[in-house]
Amino acid sequence: MKPALIDSHCHLDQEPLISGVRHFMQEAAAAGVQAFVVPGLHPDGWRGIAALAAENRSVLPAYGIHPMHAGCINDENLDRLREFAILGVAIGEIGLDPAYQVPLILQETAFREQLRVAVNLGLPVLIHCRHAFNKVLTILREESTNQVGGIMHAFSGSVEMAREFIRLGFAISISGAVTWNNAVKPLHLARELLLEHLVLETDAPDMTPELYRGAFNRPAWITETAQRVAEVRGISLEDVARITTDNVRRVLRLGRGSA
Ligand SMILES: [Zn+2]
Repeated sequence: MKPALIDSHCHLDQEPLISGVRHFMQEAAAAGVQAFVVPGLHPDGWRGIAALAAENRSVLPAYGIHPMHAGCINDENLDRLREFAILGVAIGEIGLDPAYQVPLILQETAFREQLRVAVNLGLPVLIHCRHAFNKVLTILREESTNQVGGIMHAFSGSVEMAREFIRLGFAISISGAVTWNNAVKPLHLARELLLEHLVLETDAPDMTPELYRGAFNRPAWITETAQRVAEVRGISLEDVARITTDNVRRVLRLGRGSA
């Protein structure tokens, strides 16, 4: 039996995936992927995500402004976000990442404004966070994000930090980084957190699993990540697939007619 997986974070609307999107979706379906959460990066891309979702029931759209584009936060784009958001399963991807050139204060403003939209509309959030876990945790608490919860995408923090986000109602997403030869933290997360708090993602076309290093990533390869999690926990791939898929459905409150 094929595992029933959900890719909780992939950029099917972006190149190089969009050019062959039909192929990549079929390839993923053949590997057992039932649904794809496609997060927004910039307002200019929201229409494309909406179109992809309108054509494919398995595409679960999310809308948001990525921290690298925080400079485009303004009233007009926040109004547009509210319009698109009601068509989506979540607000995202949003967050903080000091590795980008965008000033952190601007990133924080964009992040807080979008969290307020999410809490207002009762939508979960997809969080992008690197090297700013304490700050993001503080902001999530101050903005009452525990009312909506969400997913910590491609989480790269410690087990202790993961537990802080879990307490706020977040699932921890394991990416292809867990398959890398130099993986340390993702392995700890995959081994030590309760399975009911884990979800899986590819972040395709980025974060290619070890076996395919050098190629751009694609949603079908989520099976590499699922297999690695199964190995480190000593359980079956089917159990990993079933439970992480249930987790995505619970956190994103799917089954409200959208999926
Ligand atoms: Zn992403």
